[in-house]
Amino acid sequence: MSKAAPGSWMAPFLLHDPCVNQGVHCSMSSEFFPAAALTREERALRFVKRAHGIRMLGLALGAVVVGTVLLRNDAPAPVWVLMVVHGFVWPHVARLLSGRSAEPAKTEQRNMLVDAAMSGVWVALMQFNLLPSVALVAMLGMDLIAVGGYRLLARGMALQATACAVAAVADGFNFAPRTGLPEMLATLPLLTMFPIVLSVSMHRLSRQVQQQNHLLLQLSSVDSLSGLLNRSHWENAVNAALSRHCCDVAVMLLVDIDQFKRANDQHGHTAGDEVIRKVGKVIRASLRDGDLAGRYGGDEFCVVLCGADMHAAATVAERIRSSVACSLFERAPGLRCTLSIGLARHHTAMRDTREWVKDADAALYRAKLSGRNRFVLAN
Ligand code: GH3
Ligand code: MG
Repeated sequence: MSKAAPGSWMAPFLLHDPCVNQGVHCSMSSEFFPAAALTREERALRFVKRAHGIRMLGLALGAVVVGTVLLRNDAPAPVWVLMVVHGFVWPHVARLLSGRSAEPAKTEQRNMLVDAAMSGVWVALMQFNLLPSVALVAMLGMDLIAVGGYRLLARGMALQATACAVAAVADGFNFAPRTGLPEMLATLPLLTMFPIVLSVSMHRLSRQVQQQNHLLLQLSSVDSLSGLLNRSHWENAVNAALSRHCCDVAVMLLVDIDQFKRANDQHGHTAGDEVIRKVGKVIRASLRDGDLAGRYGGDEFCVVLCGADMHAAATVAERIRSSVACSLFERAPGLRCTLSIGLARHHTAMRDTREWVKDADAALYRAKLSGRNRFVLAN
């Protein structure tokens, strides 16, 4: 008696998208990083679609192998039905399960364990036909390890062995390991196409992970309200530019929102946040390549205009000041905000960024003392 059916051996390898299960909220800064604009749901959908494609391919190629062995072994109708259900219906069920799950990656791992168990069943029902059986086991192992590492591999293999033993006993332990030419030929597409498709997907995935790492690095260096560098990254960037002598001719602008505490008190912190967002946007719009802008503190921003002389810097400062002064705010229609700005030229005698900031701060202080809503040049 012989039976067999197609394999789930190629459970879709889980394209482990770091944003799918770990709740990385990239969308937070999509305003500043368009690449982060995909929502978590969109990422999950993309992941489910990818897993579905790979499972369909694997099961279809497996069906060719198992079907060939079944034909040779003259398998009974129920085994053929099982093969059709597993090979051609199950991938869509698995997609539905993952698609509806709150944790698609975890559900996909469970789907893979179903694939592992089923592959054990097919090995038994193929009566241990050597090449097809080895191919199923190898492809499944590859998939399991790609998706969940050694842990999933160990669980999958244990399940596979158990299911195989149970199916072999139920089948009366038919053992016919010899592989004929038709089964050999039927196994070739599985042995060649599937690893290639899997590798292509792995390659794409590793590129995505690289991009996401880059994105995370950017996100961690950017202040989420203003979209400017946060203080430590700004200082590092300026120090690096100084050490490369990129700032030998440069002017620093230290920008502070006037009476911001009062604005917060009168219009609320949400309106205050809108002001910070606006100031960040205005500053970003004034930058050229190579300029470095950061949020220095609560309502203080620091900009280094590389290659600019005092005259050019004063023009930029005035543009920023006047643009914010005439801005309206959605959350507080009556709110008007002004800026005071201190400007300081870079001197080669300066040892680090802080000395430069000190000069700009002295100028800012004078701008505040002399009535605010203005820029003042350092002595
Ligand atoms: P001055 O014109 O002298 O600069 O007065 P000021 O009120 O702006 O100065 P001060 O430094 O006393 O106030 C800064 C305020 O900025 C205090 C703090 O509550 C507010 N602030 C700091 N960070 C944030 C923020 O992220 N959001 C909002 N809404 N307010 C913030
Ligand atoms: Mg202030």
